Amino acid sequence: MVKKLPKVPVVVVGMGWAGSIISAELTKAGIEVVGLERGRERKMSDYLMVHDELRFQHREEMMQDLSKETITSRNNRKMRALPMRHYGTFIVGDGVGGAGSHWNGQTYRFLPYDFEIKSLTQERYGAGKIKSEIPLQDWGITYDELESYYDTFEKMAGISGETVDLYGHRSNPYPTGPMLKTPVLEEFEKATKKLGYNPYILPSANLSENYENPDGISRMACQYCAYCENFGCEYGAKADPVVTVIPVAQETGKLDLRTHANVTRILNDD
Ligand code: SF4
Repeated sequence: MVKKLPKVPVVVVGMGWAGSIISAELTKAGIEVVGLERGRERKMSDYLMVHDELRFQHREEMMQDLSKETITSRNNRKMRALPMRHYGTFIVGDGVGGAGSHWNGQTYRFLPYDFEIKSLTQERYGAGKIKSEIPLQDWGITYDELESYYDTFEKMAGISGETVDLYGHRSNPYPTGPMLKTPVLEEFEKATKKLGYNPYILPSANLSENYENPDGISRMACQYCAYCENFGCEYGAKADPVVTVIPVAQETGKLDLRTHANVTRILNDD
């Protein structure tokens, strides 16, 4: 039987990075939020001593179970949409934190060019370069418009990186320095510099040092255990909604987080 619940100003569907960040920002501003998450609750303590490759790497315990609920895709409307039976590189998280809990932490910014790929390509190579059948378009937002949001995200998540002159303008350096180099990376650096390249350490959401973010959330430095992707981080060193923004939203008392709440349809009047 349908049960009608009291109205709230905002309902967020899915408590991965996007839903959790929005929930934290809204609740900090005093707005009540109901967060609906189809999977289960997760805490950092769930990840203790779970370097179990069979469970997490091979049986993909943190992902949507494709044997129960799959995803279909097709490249155009004439094709039959086929179900995905095994994950490839696109892996869909399930549970609080979503894919933000099992990601590996590489945290590039898009290049300014990426946002204006159509107009900048045409500017450089001429209007005829992009054929009409190629569905290429600009994002409608530029790197400079988004820069302050990248900066806010990097401070919240404690992104570790080497500030190199590769991306567009940065208002601040990364909040924490780059990760350590392994002996192999040191050799790679020497060899590529000799060839005239400028190697640098990739920005990552794995903390290179203990860090307290602007919301007052303290997290420990990475222990280089190498169980990032497909696993949760038992040290809280990898930025994950569970250890960054969700506690901030919960602290306000304005977030009602409901797990095992699967949204199948959104109804609206018009
Ligand atoms: S300790 Fe470091 S390497 Fe291990 S899971 Fe956490 S962030 Fe990844």
